[in-house]
Amino acid sequence: MNLKSERRGIHVDQSELLCKKGCGYYGNPAWQGFCSKCWREEYHKARQKQIQEDWELAERLQREEEEAYASSQSTQGAQSLTFSKFEEKKTNEKTRKVTTVKKFFTASSRAGAKKALAGKLKEIQEAKAPSPSIHRQASIETDRVSKEFIEFIRTYQKPGQDIYKQCKLFLDTVSHKRDLSIEEQSECAQDFYQNVADRLQTRWKVPPEKVEKAMDEVEKYIMTRQYKYVFCPETTDDEKKDLAVQKRIRALHWVTPQMLCVPVSEEIPEVSDMVVKAITDIIEMDSKRVPRDKLACITKCSKHIFNAIKITKNEPASADDFLPTLIYIVLKGNPPRLQSNIQYITRFCNPSRLMTGEDGYYFTNLCCAVAFIEKLDAQSLNLSQEDFDRFMTGQTSPKKQESDSFSPDVCLGVKQMCKSLDLLSQLNERQERIVSEAKKLEKDLIDWTDGITKEVEDIVEKYPLEIKPKSQALAAIDSENVENDKLPPPLQPQVYAG
Ligand SMILES: [Zn+2]
Repeated sequence: MNLKSERRGIHVDQSELLCKKGCGYYGNPAWQGFCSKCWREEYHKARQKQIQEDWELAERLQREEEEAYASSQSTQGAQSLTFSKFEEKKTNEKTRKVTTVKKFFTASSRAGAKKALAGKLKEIQEAKAPSPSIHRQASIETDRVSKEFIEFIRTYQKPGQDIYKQCKLFLDTVSHKRDLSIEEQSECAQDFYQNVADRLQTRWKVPPEKVEKAMDEVEKYIMTRQYKYVFCPETTDDEKKDLAVQKRIRALHWVTPQMLCVPVSEEIPEVSDMVVKAITDIIEMDSKRVPRDKLACITKCSKHIFNAIKITKNEPASADDFLPTLIYIVLKGNPPRLQSNIQYITRFCNPSRLMTGEDGYYFTNLCCAVAFIEKLDAQSLNLSQEDFDRFMTGQTSPKKQESDSFSPDVCLGVKQMCKSLDLLSQLNERQERIVSEAKKLEKDLIDWTDGITKEVEDIVEKYPLEIKPKSQALAAIDSENVENDKLPPPLQPQVYAG
């Protein structure tokens, strides 16, 4: 156990989970360590800067072109064009060029430029759309969610009507903006959440807890409808990243809980139950369509992990125990489309949910776990580089090295079966030992009896029992009478004179 204290497990300082701007909210690798609020500020700044730079470049190019044009005109075109005509042409060209440049750098015309491409993409998307039955199921769900939303919004009366109108307007607008980049669409959604929440608070004076509830329903409504367009869109490399993570997790199939210093002992049936539940939860995330529902899966998974640690250690789990265990669960579960799900939540969840509270905390930890999986190395697994390389290339597996520990890809049933078989063979051995001991005991007993008999016989032989006739000593008839001494003394002869 001395070895254990020297191992350097996976550790993240809790402050590293927070926004690097120090605002106190949770940060996220997808936002380069910022919280959603600070990231948007930074993103805006960066975008503004980019636009500014593009403008400057455009203006410089234009100046250069004008100079070139002017010099060419002065050398050869001077005779054919009058000065006024030249001036006219120059101005015309300038305005045309500026508007083209301007148009090029504004979102709306960029959208126009991409329209053809987006139309094509849409065609492809529709062509590879899921089978009709899945499609029907999805539209049934959309209808159900819409109905529920309308029923819910009715309870809010006038503000409710306003929310509904806003949502409709938003959905209508985004349906015309499908060709925007996913970051821009995400920004639209987040602006929308912000606007609706602000409206409810300031214009309709709705109390904060009712605002939060309404926002959850708004998210559910708009994201159920938008899901198929914005989850893992073809315009991003989300799918490529999904495949990369999946491949990486598969390559790490040999990692054992011991290597990660995971304080969970799956031999305890209750703990192994929790582990299975945690894996199921994280896999289930992919089946949900609303970002908040996906988050709920992560939170449920995390709570099962905390329970598993608590039962194993018999004390509450610490944050240092949690992260390696979460990594282990992700490695064991290899959840489908992990990066897409994380990206989707990051882009389209109501940001207030990700910045604070337990959902935000667990989500940040999951992002951290994925980042760790991407860079797990020999050192973080307490292995020599040589062993790590051999395990990674599949030359050998830790199972061969330590026959008593299983690699995480062996399913629980097989593990249990191997354990049972092991136990049975141990029992068998013990029983055989008992039988042989019993036989030995029986033999000992027989030997002992024989020995005693022989000894007795020897003695009998040596000292034969001779029954001598009793010596016929005379005895009084009443010699055996015990009461004799109680009798009066025998009469003595008396001499009578006379
Ligand atoms: Zn921040």
